[in-house]
Formats: sequence, structure tokens, C-alpha cells
Amino acid sequence: MRIVCPFCGERELGEFTYLGDAKPVRPAADAGEDAVFDYVYLRDNIAGVMNENWYHGGGCRAWLKVTRNTLTHEISAVEPAPGAGAAKVDA
Ligand SMILES: [Zn+2]
Repeated sequence: MRIVCPFCGERELGEFTYLGDAKPVRPAADAGEDAVFDYVYLRDNIAGVMNENWYHGGGCRAWLKVTRNTLTHEISAVEPAPGAGAAKVDA
């Protein structure tokens, strides 16, 4: 599988780190234990198209949102993920 980084172009999968489902949103500090438990441990097991966070550690070190079909590994979109990490993706 190859990923087309919006900053670096098409690269080998080994340059990237999979970080999981991009959908869960970190709860507020006062959200309570149940919300934190759900955020940390509960994930949907999606068979089909999903948005995932990937980190391009072997390239630009940006966090990316990759839209991938988990059944076919077809990637339909790759874009910066400004909320996923510390990378300055607006530059
Ligand atoms: Zn990159």
C-alpha cells in the first residue's frame, strides 16, 4: 500500500504510522470517567470506508486524515489533520 502525502507526494507505507480511527473526539476535562473510558477504549470495527489518522514520521512529520476502505485498502482521500496532532498543517 502506498499513501499520497499532500506535502511529500506518493510514499511507501513504511514511512507512516497508523494511529486509528479519526472519528473519536477527546472529551472535555470535566466530562467524567465514562466519557474518557469510551474515548480511550471503545472503537467501532468498521468494514468499509472510514477516516483514519496516520502520521508521516518518515517524511514531513505531519498528521494526516486518510479515507480508506478497510476491506480493499483503497485510499480515496488524504488530507492534513489539523486536530490530530502538533504538526503545523496550515503552512
Ligand atoms: Zn509527508
